[in-house]
Amino acid sequence: MEALNLNNKKVTILGSQRSAMGAARLLSHFGAKILVSELDADQFTAEKRHVLADIGAEFEFGYHSEDVMDCEFVVVSPGIPENVDIIQKLRAKGIPIYSEIEVTSWFIDAPCIAVTGSNGKTTTVNLIDHLLTTAGYDSYLGGNVGVAASEVLLDSLNDKAEKPIFVLEVSSFQLDNIDRFKPDVGVILNLTPDHLDRYPSLSAYYESKLGMLKNLDEHSVAVLNQDDEELMKRDIHFERTRFFAVNSQTGADAMLAEGILGIMKTEGWTPIMPAKALPLPGKHNLSNALAAVAAVLEYIDDPAVLAQGLMTFSAVPHRIEYIGKVNGVRCYNDSKATNIASAEVAISSFNQPLWLILGGKDKGGDFTQLLPLLEEKARGVLLVGAAAELIESQLGHSIPVKVFETIDEAVDHCFDHSEDGDVLLLSPACASFDQFQGYEARGDHFRSLVTKREGWSK
Ligand code: ADP
Repeated sequence: MEALNLNNKKVTILGSQRSAMGAARLLSHFGAKILVSELDADQFTAEKRHVLADIGAEFEFGYHSEDVMDCEFVVVSPGIPENVDIIQKLRAKGIPIYSEIEVTSWFIDAPCIAVTGSNGKTTTVNLIDHLLTTAGYDSYLGGNVGVAASEVLLDSLNDKAEKPIFVLEVSSFQLDNIDRFKPDVGVILNLTPDHLDRYPSLSAYYESKLGMLKNLDEHSVAVLNQDDEELMKRDIHFERTRFFAVNSQTGADAMLAEGILGIMKTEGWTPIMPAKALPLPGKHNLSNALAAVAAVLEYIDDPAVLAQGLMTFSAVPHRIEYIGKVNGVRCYNDSKATNIASAEVAISSFNQPLWLILGGKDKGGDFTQLLPLLEEKARGVLLVGAAAELIESQLGHSIPVKVFETIDEAVDHCFDHSEDGDVLLLSPACASFDQFQGYEARGDHFRSLVTKREGWSK
């Protein structure tokens, strides 16, 4: 993509979290004069002061001054919703507002695979990254996964990599403010309800995800989930579309057939490996693996290399992560399941009697959706955090439900009442911010409760 000339142009960055700081560094690297404006004074740290001083940026913490308006464009943090005053003021003045992914994409001069969807993004981008690395590419993984896209781009500029490819996890909030962002491969994993607290309607949320495809042209590849009804009913057609499927078997490019993961090449069906050789639990991970395969087909189509990559992948922490056994009870940390659909998927991955920890900060949604599975599998549903009572009222009395203040108490209860062969699963279906800094802190806490327990073994 043709990069803009930013020399001495004024740019305002709203927010000071990871992607905002990355955008500040990146745009300053390309000559822009930066103002970082952050409403929350508590976000100010010595480290940020150091970074901002280092790039000669101006900054203000605790308020937005009128200087915010004095710029060519604004980069907005994904955490700032559209309806706040400052955004409304900028819109009224006609000042362009972009996400960090948008501005980063202006400077990416290498192939770019971008992944969005309601669930499975982090697992899939990690799979893609691992497949590319296995095949000898210099894969740069960023976006919603730990390192901001802008930071990853800055790293690549220093590295002088021979075969760079960017793999980006993109949230709907980042897609809300794109303009020219055009990945070479745009993947949509699935569309299921989420973030009803942030979007006016479900269709607004879905439209935001579909923004991933808005600039694709005849050279780009759209990768779509053929099993996803919400996606398929939109009848999306591009010159180059690749479908992946676990359930439907009508001409997908990467699919599961009779227990085998394979690809459809021009010469016909080409097996990659048996599905059971994938070192990740659950059918949803077969879907993620096939999405990853479909996404990299442009760059790797040797089934032996694909098989080697898939078989040597290790699970990502906090995603149905096995954390050991306590006296015959197998324990799994799925703290990243922050919506109901992902908890549903995690529950369906187990056939053993289940102790499920649900709860946290509610994001809106219907927990009764979990009832059929819980009636079949749950030995106990342990509700914690701010949403506990709300979930209890929705789940009713057909399953054993108990409310606790904390995860600690829920874990104690499980180990006091469980039997050999049971499974304990933290798959909360809620955000963590009522009691934790984020899902990682929640998952780490749960892991430590389990691993410190007497009788724990891996
Ligand atoms: P994301 O980055 O989109 O939040 P992750 O890969 O971090 O997704 O997975 C989060 C949780 O979502 C997993 O622990 C699992 O419970 C669930 N999940 C993962 N992949 C899928 C999928 N393809 N479909 C539905 N749910 C999934």
